[in-house]
Amino acid sequence: MEKTNNTTKLRQHTYVQQLNLTILDNKLYIKRDDLFPYSFGGNKARKAFLFFEDIRRKRADYVVTYGSHSSNHCRVIANLSVRNNLPCLIISPNISTNASFNSTLVNLFNASIKKCELDTVSETIEKELTTLKLKGYNPYFIEGGGHGNIGTQAYVNVFEEIINYEKEKKIKFDYIFHATGTGTTQAGLICGNIINESSTDVVGISIARKEKYGKEVVLNSVNSYLESIGRLSVKKNEINFIDEYVLDGYGSFNDEIINTVKSFLIREGIPLDLIYTGKAFWGMEEYIKEKKITNKNILFIHTGGTPIFFDNLRQVLNG
Ligand SMILES: *Cc1c(COP(=O)(O)O)cnc(C)c1O
Repeated sequence: MEKTNNTTKLRQHTYVQQLNLTILDNKLYIKRDDLFPYSFGGNKARKAFLFFEDIRRKRADYVVTYGSHSSNHCRVIANLSVRNNLPCLIISPNISTNASFNSTLVNLFNASIKKCELDTVSETIEKELTTLKLKGYNPYFIEGGGHGNIGTQAYVNVFEEIINYEKEKKIKFDYIFHATGTGTTQAGLICGNIINESSTDVVGISIARKEKYGKEVVLNSVNSYLESIGRLSVKKNEINFIDEYVLDGYGSFNDEIINTVKSFLIREGIPLDLIYTGKAFWGMEEYIKEKKITNKNILFIHTGGTPIFFDNLRQVLNG
């Protein structure tokens, strides 16, 4: 009799595949979280599902979140809200962004958008939540990017899916690379690594933040989660946050990133975008070459952003 019958079998939400591409004799694999089956997938959909479970538990009747209405996060939250018949309010920074596929979708999902200046974000959130409560609602606030222990949990779960894959295929990943932004994805993977006593090196390639702040946020998220499950906290040196490839910050890219996106689509049939996954994949390649990493099993997590791929397509074609 199979042993797994006694334990709850974890569902693999997305699959892992080996790439044709190799770098310095390393075997490269990709976990297709971009194909997570809801609203164009990605890590924001992963996190959002857990937030909506909490929303149901708490019987909340109004969803409030923060983020650019062009973000993957707001697209997914708006979609899940409308699907669950919950009104959704997005508090957005008042910076000019062009219309994008995500912002168009957010409008289609009927979310209301409240713009505010960057220095009044927290008071605007407080004010909106208070107003909703006075009107008799039970609002639920989701931090920008799906930050917080619930978001972290989503990538602890992903780590367990990865471990299951390793067991099934009898391989061990030496490295996991991924694009890191608000840090929750990396925090979840690091916690998963600790909880499962795995020795994988989780390398977050920052797409915007510099190490000083970015690493601090990841560290706080890791320790907040570990504390919530009664485990000891970790130190800064256990977090591999790489800021060497952020260029001029969020949204900046170079010709090498364009070429990475182009050749990846042609050779692998997998879309990467210029803001997150293309930048991180390029950063990973540079990091591997720079550190002369060879003969390892390396997993890249495709964190999604399919609508952004289409926003970028013209730039990629012209580049
Ligand atoms: C938000 C996002 C990230 C970064 O995830 P964090 O958990 O915020 O670090 C990476 N890739 C894509 C496609 C994203 O939308």
